[in-house]
Amino acid sequence: MAKKNSTANKLDWEYAPSLEGTDHIQLKEKYDLYIGGKFVKPSSGKYFATTNPATGEKLADVAYGDESDVDKAVKAARKAYTEVWSKLSGKERGKYIYRIARIMQERARELAVIETLDAGKVIRESRDVDVPLACNHFFYYAGWADKLEYAFPNRKIESLGVAGQIIPWNFPILMAAWKIAPALAAGNTVVLKPAETTPLTALKLAEIFHDAGLPPGVVNIVTGYGDTGAAIVNHADVDKIAFTGSTGVGKIIQKAIAGTNKKATLELGGKSANIIMDDAPIDQAVEGIINGIFFNQGHVCCAGSRLFVQENVADEVIKKLKRRMDTLIVGNPLDKNTDVGAINSKEQLATIQKYIKLGISEGATMHQSRAKIPANGYYCAPTIFTDVAQSSTIVQEEIFGPVLTIQTFRTVDEVIQKANNTPFGLAAGVWSDKGSRVFNLTSKLKAGVVWANTYNKFDPTSPFGGYKESGYGREGGLHGLGAYVKLK
Ligand code: ADP
Repeated sequence: MAKKNSTANKLDWEYAPSLEGTDHIQLKEKYDLYIGGKFVKPSSGKYFATTNPATGEKLADVAYGDESDVDKAVKAARKAYTEVWSKLSGKERGKYIYRIARIMQERARELAVIETLDAGKVIRESRDVDVPLACNHFFYYAGWADKLEYAFPNRKIESLGVAGQIIPWNFPILMAAWKIAPALAAGNTVVLKPAETTPLTALKLAEIFHDAGLPPGVVNIVTGYGDTGAAIVNHADVDKIAFTGSTGVGKIIQKAIAGTNKKATLELGGKSANIIMDDAPIDQAVEGIINGIFFNQGHVCCAGSRLFVQENVADEVIKKLKRRMDTLIVGNPLDKNTDVGAINSKEQLATIQKYIKLGISEGATMHQSRAKIPANGYYCAPTIFTDVAQSSTIVQEEIFGPVLTIQTFRTVDEVIQKANNTPFGLAAGVWSDKGSRVFNLTSKLKAGVVWANTYNKFDPTSPFGGYKESGYGREGGLHGLGAYVKLK
C-alpha cells in the first residue's frame, strides 16, 4: 500500500515494507569444496567469510581452495570425463541436465533469496530474472545434448575434456548456468570457481547436482580468491577456460594460456552506449536508461553507462530522467519495492566513490537521486554526470556502479563515431521510432549485442559476447554450444 507523505514534496512516497521471507532457506555455517561428488575440506584448512553487503552480516564461512585442491578437482573432472561423461549418450546427458533444471525450478525461491543475501541485488531481479533465466539455460542446453549432429551438421563433433570456469559476482547463479549447462550438454566436465564475494548459489547448485544424481566429478566447485582462479587457468590438464570478469584479469589469463592448447572464451568489461534519437518514445527511453544503468546497481558488464541524447531532445530527456531518478527506491534488496539494492562489496563501493570524485574533479556536473540511502551496508545513490568530454576518465573507464555519463550529439555519424570511440564493445542500445535509423545504427555500432527500443534483455537462445577489450567468444545459443566442442 502506498501512502503519500503530505509534508514533503509530492515525489516522496512511502511504501510499507514488503520483505521476502528468509525462513525457508537453508544455509550451513560452513561450506567445503565440492570435489568428486563430495564436500571435502580444503587442504590448507582455511576458510573465508561471505557477507551480506546490505547489512555487513556474515552469512557463512567458505573453503579457501588452493593449488592442491584445484589439482584434486581437475583430476576428479578428468576421471569423470574419461570414465563416465564422455561415454554417455547425448540423450542420457540431457536427462541429467533436465533434472538439474527442474530441481532448480523447485528451489527457485530459495536460490533467489540466497542470491540476494550474498550479492546485494534486488529480490525482484534475482527472483524474476536471474534464477528463471538460469533454469532456462539448463533447459535450453539439455535440449541440445542429443541433437549435436543437428547443431553442427556434416561435422564430426568431439567434446573438449575438462573445462575450467571462473565467474564474477554480478550474476553469480546466471553466470554459473551460462557456463555449466553448455559444457555438460556438449559432453565436457567442469571445475568452476565462483567469485569470492558471492560463492553461495554455486554451492547450492552443488547440492542440486548431488540431488540430481549427477555422476561424481562431472561438476566440481572450488571456492577461493584470484589465486584459486589462477591455479585453474594454469593447470596443465584443463582443456578450456571460460572466464567472465574484469578486462585486467582477462589479459592476465590470455597471457597465461598463450602457447598452450587451451581454448578460451573471455567475457570482459564494457562501457556500453545507450543512444536516444529525437524521434524515440521518450518516456519508454527514460525507463530504458534507468533499467540499463540503475537497476542492479550498475553491476552489469553490458550496463548502458554512456548515454548519448540527440541535442534537440536532450533537455526533455534529462529533466524526465532526473525526475524518475528521484522516485527510485534505494534500500534493502530483500524488499520487493526496492529498485536499487546494495553495492556488492566495500571495495567496489570505494571504487565507485573514487570515480564519482574523479568526475567532479575533472569538471563534470553531477546530479544524484534524492533517494534515501540506508545508514548501514554498502549503498550508492543513482548518479548522472553531464558536461563530460569523450576524453573524461568517467566516460572512458568502466565504473561498475550506478553512474551514468550523458553526452549530446547532432547527427547519426557523430554518435556512431562517439559510441565506437572506446576500448570496449560489449553492448549498445538504440532508441528510435524509425526502423531504418535503427538498422543503420545497429549495423555500424561495434558491439556484440545491440538492443533496439529496449535494454538488458536476455534469452538462452541468443549469443552474448564482446568486441575489442570486451573479450572474445560467445555464450548462449548455438554459438555458446560451439565454444565447448571440437569440430572436424
Ligand atoms: P571483478 O572486478 O568483476 O571482481 P575480477 O576479474 O577481479 O572481476 O574477478 C572475476 C573472477 O576472476 C573472480 O572469480 C576472481 O576471483 C577471479 N580472478 C581474479 N584474479 C584472477 C587471476 N589472476 N586468474 C584467474 N582468476 C582470477
